[in-house]
Parts: sequence; structure tokens; C-alpha cells
Amino acid sequence: MAKARVGLYDVKGDTFTRTHRACPKCGAGTFLAEHKDRRSCGRCGYSESKTPPPARSKPAKPA
Ligand SMILES: [Zn+2]
Repeated sequence: MAKARVGLYDVKGDTFTRTHRACPKCGAGTFLAEHKDRRSCGRCGYSESKTPPPARSKPAKPA
């Protein structure tokens, strides 16, 4: 089954701004490097952690 390109990128023009946030310190134009669980600015060293997406709800443990 041919699946459309879904996932990381949403190719609609603002892909870059969606996946790479601008550095709040350096301002627009400087983007944060994407890491597994955080983003960091290679220019000023600013870094922020990504809030993990809500994991799939744990199945309730049978008491
Ligand atoms: Zn910066």
C-alpha cells in the first residue's frame, strides 16, 4: 500500500520553522540544532529540552 510521506516533515512551506525552532536568544535566523531529546543553539549555547510527547497510555495494571 503506497503511503504518503507522513511523519517528520510536513512539506508545506513552513517545514523548516516547524522542525527547527529559532533560538530565543539569537533571534530568528539562528536555528536550534535538533537532538534526540533537546534542542541546542550552536551559536550561544542555549539549549532546551523537548517535552516528550504523551506516551501511549499505559494499560491499567490488573489489580
Ligand atoms: Zn543562540
